[in-house]
Amino acid sequence: MTARPTTPAALTSLEAMERAGLTDPADRAMLAQVAESFRVRISPAMAGTAAEGVRAQFRPDARELQIRPEELADPIGDDAHRPVPGLTHRYPDRAILHATQACEVYCRFCFRRETVGSAGALSEAEFRQVLDYLRATPAVREVIFTGGDPLVLSARRLGGMLDRLQALGTLDLVRFHSRVPVVAPERVTEALAGVLDRALPVWMVVHVNHPEEITEAAAAALRRLTRAGVPLLSQTVLLRGINADPEVLEALFRKLLRHRVKPYYLHHPDLAKGTGHFRLTLEEGQAILAALRGRLTGIAQPTYVLDIPGGHGKVPVGPVWLRRAGEGWIVTDPQGSEHPYRDL
Ligand SMILES: *Cc1c(COP(=O)(O)O)cnc(C)c1O
Ligand code: SF4
Repeated sequence: MTARPTTPAALTSLEAMERAGLTDPADRAMLAQVAESFRVRISPAMAGTAAEGVRAQFRPDARELQIRPEELADPIGDDAHRPVPGLTHRYPDRAILHATQACEVYCRFCFRRETVGSAGALSEAEFRQVLDYLRATPAVREVIFTGGDPLVLSARRLGGMLDRLQALGTLDLVRFHSRVPVVAPERVTEALAGVLDRALPVWMVVHVNHPEEITEAAAAALRRLTRAGVPLLSQTVLLRGINADPEVLEALFRKLLRHRVKPYYLHHPDLAKGTGHFRLTLEEGQAILAALRGRLTGIAQPTYVLDIPGGHGKVPVGPVWLRRAGEGWIVTDPQGSEHPYRDL
């Protein structure tokens, strides 16, 4: 591996990744096949990090060519609940807006890896259809900007969209799910923060998987957001070889709290094509979560969730601290001891 570059640029080709010491020229032919199936890009901020737990999330890998029978092209069923282009409406009170398909980085485990990077941003005509649908469906009280990564759009474009959503008068809040504050913190400008600081509350869920992703520049971006009154939550994908370890997750969650981010979801990895090498079993995931329960402040505990393959929704998957025993229950404490409990 070479030393970190002094002025990192985005890495968008295998040649650039080889020069950065991320991939081996001997693997070029195989990785070219990977890059044909799944886009490659590493943002300048992430190209400049030396941490293996970060690099391995973005570096193309020959194991991605192993497609397993259970792996699905649309693992969470986004396409099954699409009333108008660009909108996924699965739960009554909230809907997902796919504002763009582009990202600053293409994560090797992404559950939308078959669609990210393909078409461009939502067109004006499509956005108008989305607004019409929302106007006709006031049960939707929350619009969730996702993608791709919605924060690759300009502050001006996002501001325009937020103004029109706010004008509907039917929304309680808007939520962004984004990896940008961490992987491309320079995009979180004062202008962007200004656009998010508005009467309609904007919440943000930052996608972050490893403590080393939170660089000084990322910390400054998070600060710009909290100063603009944006409550920050995090989502993390549990990944074998990256963060599937209580020590790494503890470090990540503690660091997030220091930057005013509340850990929200820890996702069991989805059945995305060519991602088997990142997956662990549910039982392994539960054991990691159980180890965190006793030793980490309650506000750093995320909910461990599985997006049920086929578009059946997200549910918490444990660990379970409670089981039936005769008329009552047996409750397990964080140290593993069991205690009886009886309802009235
Ligand atoms: C994950 C998801 C949401 C948001 O779910 P929360 O549990 O509110 O975070 C909304 N719609 C769809 C289709 C989703 O997949
Ligand atoms: S930034 Fe998000 S949507 Fe884009 S590749 Fe990574 S996980 Fe997928």
